[in-house]
Amino acid sequence: MAGDRASSVIEGSVAIESARMGNTLRAVAYHAVPQSSMSSFSRQLDYFAKHYVPLDAEGFTQFLAQGSCQSFGMLENNGHYSANTTISNWQDRARHRPGLIISFDDGLIEQYEVAAPLLEARGMRGWFFVPSALLDLEQEFQQDFCALHDISLRRKEARKEKTQHSLVSNRIAMGLNEIKDLARRGHVIGCHTAHHVRMRPTLDTAILFDEIVEAKKELEMRLGYPVNAFAWVGGEPDTYRADALQMLCEAGFSWIFTTQSSLFRVGGDTRAIHRTVLEPDLPFPLFLAKINGLSDLMHCGRRKASLNAMRL
Ligand SMILES: [Zn+2]
Repeated sequence: MAGDRASSVIEGSVAIESARMGNTLRAVAYHAVPQSSMSSFSRQLDYFAKHYVPLDAEGFTQFLAQGSCQSFGMLENNGHYSANTTISNWQDRARHRPGLIISFDDGLIEQYEVAAPLLEARGMRGWFFVPSALLDLEQEFQQDFCALHDISLRRKEARKEKTQHSLVSNRIAMGLNEIKDLARRGHVIGCHTAHHVRMRPTLDTAILFDEIVEAKKELEMRLGYPVNAFAWVGGEPDTYRADALQMLCEAGFSWIFTTQSSLFRVGGDTRAIHRTVLEPDLPFPLFLAKINGLSDLMHCGRRKASLNAMRL
């Protein structure tokens, strides 16, 4: 009898924990996705597909409105997710899993050529945060742009792969065609400033305007629809500013992402959605540790400092 009671208490606790997790969301951020990382990145995506409910823009909107992942645009189909399938017990299972936003910063071509197909093979969609000034840049200037604006590349590795396979092109950045194609395929396009600028306290307000308001306008003009998601550049606590946040909000960005790692809970502030930074070729145990609390713990101090800098 005592054993029955104990097990029912445990089951009850699990049920409570599961219900709670259904009201949370983990946002993650990747940068370079070299072809050599396909195998380990695929393993990470398989894990996400099994344990989380991946959200696109519509799914995130519903998550915010309904307070859980019970209903959204990407429904499960044969172990993966598909936009057009309805499964009767899906909602029950989804209720017990946290949501997931999987994002990619910096507008790199390998995100289009390597990452997007791997996501789509699992019915998942990504959130791609692009520096708007990189979209039109000729190939010959892209390397210098990245060096000048601190966009980290793993091109040596990619070039080596190019001789063996042909998936990764010689270009560094996605162009407008790729961005539009991603959007057409259901991925989310967000803004990552115009020139990949860290908004340090010394940065002139006029530059803030160009990097926020003008970058948004430019991206929207090119895409032909409103862009309301933004990701800060850098991640150091002194790259977040209260006046920049105010400008972001006034410009119409309603979903603003940091890299200060924390679960997002229903009712949380969408002006500071913290993402966990991951690499696609992380050793799997380290990947698990990071998304299950290690990064949240490691970023505790930085997160507080960044929120203070934004006066949130
Ligand atoms: Zn970046």
